[in-house]
Amino acid sequence: MVISGGTIYNGSGDAPYVADIGITDGVIQAIGKIKPGNSKVIDAKGLYISPGFIDMHTHCDRGLMQPTMSDAQNYLKQGVTTVVTGNCGSGTYRVAEYFDHLDSIGIGPNVAHLIGHGTVRRTVMGQEDRAPDADEMQEMKELFAIGMKGGAAGFSTGLFYAPGSYSETDEIIELGKEVKGYRGIYASHIRDEGSFTVGLLASIKEAIAIGEAAEIPVQISHLKALGKPVWGFSDEVTAMIEDARDRGVNVWADQYPYTASNTGFSAAVLPRWVQAGGETESRLTDPDLLPRIREEMARNIENRGGPESLLLISYAKDSTYNGKTLAEISELRGEPVVETAIHLILNGSSGVISFNMNESDVHHFMQKDYVMTSSDGHVQQPGDGMPHPRSYGAFTRKLRKYVLEEEVISMEHAIRAATSQPANMLGLADRGLIEKGFVADLVVFDPQTIQDKSTFGDPHHYSEGIVFLFVSGEPVIENGDYNGKLSGKTLRMNQ
Ligand SMILES: [Zn+2]
Repeated sequence: MVISGGTIYNGSGDAPYVADIGITDGVIQAIGKIKPGNSKVIDAKGLYISPGFIDMHTHCDRGLMQPTMSDAQNYLKQGVTTVVTGNCGSGTYRVAEYFDHLDSIGIGPNVAHLIGHGTVRRTVMGQEDRAPDADEMQEMKELFAIGMKGGAAGFSTGLFYAPGSYSETDEIIELGKEVKGYRGIYASHIRDEGSFTVGLLASIKEAIAIGEAAEIPVQISHLKALGKPVWGFSDEVTAMIEDARDRGVNVWADQYPYTASNTGFSAAVLPRWVQAGGETESRLTDPDLLPRIREEMARNIENRGGPESLLLISYAKDSTYNGKTLAEISELRGEPVVETAIHLILNGSSGVISFNMNESDVHHFMQKDYVMTSSDGHVQQPGDGMPHPRSYGAFTRKLRKYVLEEEVISMEHAIRAATSQPANMLGLADRGLIEKGFVADLVVFDPQTIQDKSTFGDPHHYSEGIVFLFVSGEPVIENGDYNGKLSGKTLRMNQ
């Protein structure tokens, strides 16, 4: 097959050039002026060609495991050919079984996976708010070894969430050393992205210290300055990262291009001590504890921009609350904000979209050449709930808004952040660049039409502008339409 006459952004960050690309057996065999002969020809004149996008930070695990969702079309339509699952401490350590299952049902994009520290800790220690004893540490290391031998690319933590938040720095360093032997990476949802506990800067410092002591690459997950008290801290954060990089620590970050985050409602507003031991409910109904809980919850809500900035999604008990802010629900119920929040938590889990970032911090992080693009999203099916629009549009939005409209970064920079940088960090030697011998993970897009279509109010629209997409050498989007093929591979590392 020959892709003819497109403008090639090869993923390295170099300036684009016009050439033909020849693909044989799923591999890029030639770049230049190619006589097509009997080959099938795709005319790419006026279109841009890039290596397929690699999403370093997703929560696609659960969706990918379901046969009805494993095409992950919301990612293919953004030009994403590889997703990394298992983030924020949540991934399974039974990696070989997970990959076997994905291979058996077929998947749209390629998948790499991280072992979740939270999963492992919960398996060994439950929700205990204490350090592991020697036996428990040994058992955690054994589960990590099972995961790494099964093909994981590394591990992730959710130090903000229970039970990750109950672990000290030393525990993560010791587990990081276990992963080093397999050349794994460490992806960190840091302890505090704002001013809830130890603060943003101390949390960045901790992530760097873990990478430095365990001698493994660190990826700071969904880099941001969360909440007004830390707006403007992006300068200091990047100075710390650059200091560390200068002394040889391999620090990276990923970022989704939005000013709103999305997490669990309980995780967003509850102090962690309330969740310890899985006794949230009894504490939330204990009249002796309630005054302190109310005070800390009020502070957490304020830190996220107040009840007007917290948009409820996926609340199962009463779906009419979905798409409303905590302020609106509190008014509907005729109850103070904190009482409403407690009521919601006691009646089941829900997600929350939280408008808590500022655009100039988002720009500052995005301009750094060690910051990769991510979605932090899920596999989505149109019409299901009120998800954050990033699941449908993180990669296309970055190109439309931050490259083409606002010129915050160049096209070369944006494409490198989604291709060779993540491939490099993951250790994928034959993906992430358009070069002879590389696997043909390719995206052909129209710079006139590429854009995200999902918004916070109307979040279920596939992105536009991806004209062709090749996953592991097979065309899966042709002339803008998904052809139903499941060409994704499980990327088993260290095998
Ligand atoms: Zn996270």
